[in-house]
Amino acid sequence: MTPKEVLALCRENDVKAVDFRFMDFPGIWQHFTIPVSHLSEDTFEDGLGFDGSSIRGWQAINESDMLVVPQPDTAFVDPFTQLPTLVLICNIQDPITREDYSRDPRNVCRKAANYLKSTGIADTCFIGPEAEFFVFDDVRFDQRPQHGFYYIDSVEGEWNRGRDEGPNLGYKLRHKEGYFPVPPADSLMDLRNEMMQTMIECGLNVEAQHHEVSTAGQCEIDMRFNEMVKMADDLLIYKYVIKNVAKRNNRTATFMPKPVFSDNGSGMHTHFSFWKDNEPLFAGSGYAGLSETALYAIGGLLKHASAVLAFTNPTTNSYKRLVPGYEAPVNLAYSQRNRSASCRIPMYSPSPKAKRVEFRCPDPTCNPYLAFAAITMAAIDGIQNKIDPGQPLDKDIYDLPPEEAAAVPKTPDSLDAALDALADDHEFLLRGDVFTKDVIETWIDYKRKNEADAIRLRPHPYEFCLYYDI
Ligand code: GLU
Ligand code: MG
Ligand code: MG
Repeated sequence: MTPKEVLALCRENDVKAVDFRFMDFPGIWQHFTIPVSHLSEDTFEDGLGFDGSSIRGWQAINESDMLVVPQPDTAFVDPFTQLPTLVLICNIQDPITREDYSRDPRNVCRKAANYLKSTGIADTCFIGPEAEFFVFDDVRFDQRPQHGFYYIDSVEGEWNRGRDEGPNLGYKLRHKEGYFPVPPADSLMDLRNEMMQTMIECGLNVEAQHHEVSTAGQCEIDMRFNEMVKMADDLLIYKYVIKNVAKRNNRTATFMPKPVFSDNGSGMHTHFSFWKDNEPLFAGSGYAGLSETALYAIGGLLKHASAVLAFTNPTTNSYKRLVPGYEAPVNLAYSQRNRSASCRIPMYSPSPKAKRVEFRCPDPTCNPYLAFAAITMAAIDGIQNKIDPGQPLDKDIYDLPPEEAAAVPKTPDSLDAALDALADDHEFLLRGDVFTKDVIETWIDYKRKNEADAIRLRPHPYEFCLYYDI
């Protein structure tokens, strides 16, 4: 879409306001709005100024004046606003030098896509994320239990299990049996349909929607794969639609990886493949129909996985999901069959075009621009340095004898451990100036102080259960 076409779209839809969106450093979509009369073809060239000093993770900049530069091919009409509003996703630039801002996550992702091209390995990285989420009833603050937050209930795994619970529990799904009986057992069918339809109206290519394993209200909606920057943009629209459709139905949606104790968590399995001149590069005659290129990509990803997880699993809650017994990966291994391996090779289709690697570690609290960039950079390193992924692990890793299981490298067990790994291993991310040293250091510092330490230093509700009466 050209700027002219965007202006025509505004006229066709009687648009009155234009909303500029961009991603902060940790991964929450930000916005501000102008009247449509202030949008012209020049806006796409000149950008619009704003104060970047209060954006999380960007404070360190001395010069806080920044530019948002709207990207015409990202335009869509917001389905939730009362006033007809057009949304434009923006890049961030310095107003004086007109350089792309190095801490703009979208810029990091664009640089990773360009770096892939510049290596000559491939011209496109396609990504297909499967973001899972929970839907809970919208509880107003004054309805929460008096003593402490609702979180205390979730410690015992009971929070919201009783949604729709009445005297007759005949249609209540049994624990971990949410995948996936028809309604009325599946009480979220209409809500997911509304989400799916709204996504389609926003221009997303949705392939399927379904209930997930957890009966506390876990869902998944799947989009068709797309080029990595476009896919990260789409994922933000995806989350925006899910949260806002939930909200207008008096529900809330959360992408927290582990909102309910002793139940399945929410992952964001990320399928990826490299392509060149419209030909898939991951199909071949090796293990599970993979090419040598794909096996080296897996080698790179497994080698750097602990550091990559600092971006793909970037919250303290992420590591409550990565534990055995809930279909989440804990072993840094690959397999065509085994869902307990962190890299799985799906075998749904014999077509070379469908050949891809499913990285099962990521979760939907990641900033997708940074997560997709980190995965791509690790895969490139594997291909360039011919990193051998070792033998596949086709046995059920959960059932291996203890000595064999112990020999399989494990995912980090905390955000701190992943940040330590990133501090030790990030040369592969700096290539092509994709992640700058400043981005890596700021990320580690931000996550350490604002999240890892903030949780470590606080008394935990469950500590009151364990120790109050000691
Ligand atoms: N919810 C599981 C996870 O945390 C994944 C379930 C599935 O295979 O879709 O990764
Ligand atoms: Mg799933
Ligand atoms: Mg999957």
